[in-house]
Amino acid sequence: MNVLCELAAPFVANSAVEGTDVARPFRAHVLSCLRCQARQVAMAKVAREMSAMSSEAFRAPLDLEWRVMSSLEGDLAVARSWRTPVALGAAVLSMAAAILIWRLRPRAQT
Ligand SMILES: [Zn+2]
Repeated sequence: MNVLCELAAPFVANSAVEGTDVARPFRAHVLSCLRCQARQVAMAKVAREMSAMSSEAFRAPLDLEWRVMSSLEGDLAVARSWRTPVALGAAVLSMAAAILIWRLRPRAQT
């Protein structure tokens, strides 16, 4: 890999995203370098695709935070000893809610 190509890479990326010419110190190189031109075309394509995606909105699953935090290792990790009690607690809570709903269901009058 040419050192000049690597030095030009941030300027190539900037011009691809902004849709402008490459900054002057590297413009002549990019005009004569197929590798840099290919990089610029590829980056411009990605920039266009990302720009098109920016209007799309996706909802995250409700349990995403829990799934991410419980899969972490290290300081931010949910302690493994907490995983089972929390899961059991959630199961018991949902069972209690189901029983409560069952008990409070409207009944036909006799
Ligand atoms: Zn180059």
